[in-house]
Amino acid sequence: MPTSELTRERDLRESKPLWADTPRIGIRTRNTPSSDHYDTIVVGAGISGALVAHALQRPGQSMLIIDRRDPVMGSSVASTAMIQHEIDTPLTKLRKMIGRGAADRAWQRSARAVLRLEEIVSALGISCGMARKPALYLAGNEMGSRALKAEVAAREEAGIKARLLDPAELRNDYGIERTAAILSDISASANPAQLTAGLLRHTAGAGAEIISRLEITDLRNLGDKVVVATAQGKILSARNVIFCTGYEFLKLLESPKHQIISTWALASAKGMDLPDWLQSHIVWEASDPYLYLRTDRDGRLIAGGEDEENPTSYLSEGKLVSKAQTIRRKIEKLLGVDIGEPEYRWTAAFGTTTTGLPLIGAVPGMKNVYAVMGFGGNGITFSQIAAEIVAAAVNGGKDPDADLFRFG
Ligand SMILES: Cc1cc2nc3c(=O)[nH]c(=O)nc-3n(C[C@H](O)[C@H](O)[C@H](O)COP(=O)(O)OP(=O)(O)OC[C@H]3O[C@@H](n4cnc5c(N)ncnc54)[C@H](O)[C@@H]3O)c2cc1C
Repeated sequence: MPTSELTRERDLRESKPLWADTPRIGIRTRNTPSSDHYDTIVVGAGISGALVAHALQRPGQSMLIIDRRDPVMGSSVASTAMIQHEIDTPLTKLRKMIGRGAADRAWQRSARAVLRLEEIVSALGISCGMARKPALYLAGNEMGSRALKAEVAAREEAGIKARLLDPAELRNDYGIERTAAILSDISASANPAQLTAGLLRHTAGAGAEIISRLEITDLRNLGDKVVVATAQGKILSARNVIFCTGYEFLKLLESPKHQIISTWALASAKGMDLPDWLQSHIVWEASDPYLYLRTDRDGRLIAGGEDEENPTSYLSEGKLVSKAQTIRRKIEKLLGVDIGEPEYRWTAAFGTTTTGLPLIGAVPGMKNVYAVMGFGGNGITFSQIAAEIVAAAVNGGKDPDADLFRFG
């Protein structure tokens, strides 16, 4: 099977993410696998592959992690890494789409995933600048003050803390002119490349093999085994294979409920003169197209948005410049700060779903093959959920929320 038919490759092209220039993101990899058979093969060495591998690792069991690029260099290096429990689809809207019980469970699970991720990072001692930050969700063209008030009520019913801010509070505490905002806890930010690399390094230290520049091009069940072929002509097998290939998802999982869209991001120069409160908050808005922003520890402003429902718009060099200009203008309008010419601007595709919930679980029609995809703007939080659900499935357990995310 030719390479593009299993998981289509989509490169970041002309753009350069900020994190690609940060230290401690390299991983020592092998050139070839030491064996033809493993207990587990994880395809994809981004944040989802790293978290899934970490969750699946057991003493005495062999594990191979494969990537056709260098580890971390897929969309994980492009993430702006606002680690939120707030799903892109507001709870009030999600309740209408999938019912109140299911929507509440999805939001609650998302909140638990952020807390669990914090624990993992702290337990493994991963140095990735992970810091807890409250999130400010601003009223916009999709949700005004009344809708945000209803959203706060829904979240409180689901046991998820959120506080409605009125225009006076927003003006006094944040210098922002909007009709309302929701202030919530359980969010964080981090360097996503260091986070992914730290997890992979830990997994390799516990015995997993990591192979870069190896591409899986075919996939079959053969008896009790899952057999995969590589572009380099190797045949490997495993008891379980997990595809953590992000927006380069398995083509056999194409579905009208899952779309690939384009998105843009930028980072300013270091040491910006920004409002003090911004150091300790992340910000996003209920608008379409939306703007989101955070800072890093070097005093850069990192922002993104301007999504387009087109899987190839991100390939346009002209748009890379014009979208960054739009984001810069929006920041100035919101904060009254001109960040100047961005030092980094980048663009990528990502997978979204109609509900905003990711797709996680067994691949229909195959045995012992699992996939995780459709992460939208919440890829890091959803990767943690994916790791927990896949680990339960592989180990013969049952995750109580698996039904929310399964394929088909
Ligand atoms: C600009 C931008 C901003 C974002 N901001 C945020 C944010 O603020 N917060 C958040 O939570 N999420 C955010 N996201 C989403 C998040 O970054 C992604 O969902 C997440 O990084 C996906 O991780 P992954 O490991 O699934 O995919 P990737 O990091 O893309 O890793 C998949 C890997 O699979 C490999 N692969 C694919 N096919 C094959 C094959 N056939 N054989 C071998 N290897 C293969 C690829 O080379 C790649 O390295 C953002 C995304 C973008 C693009």
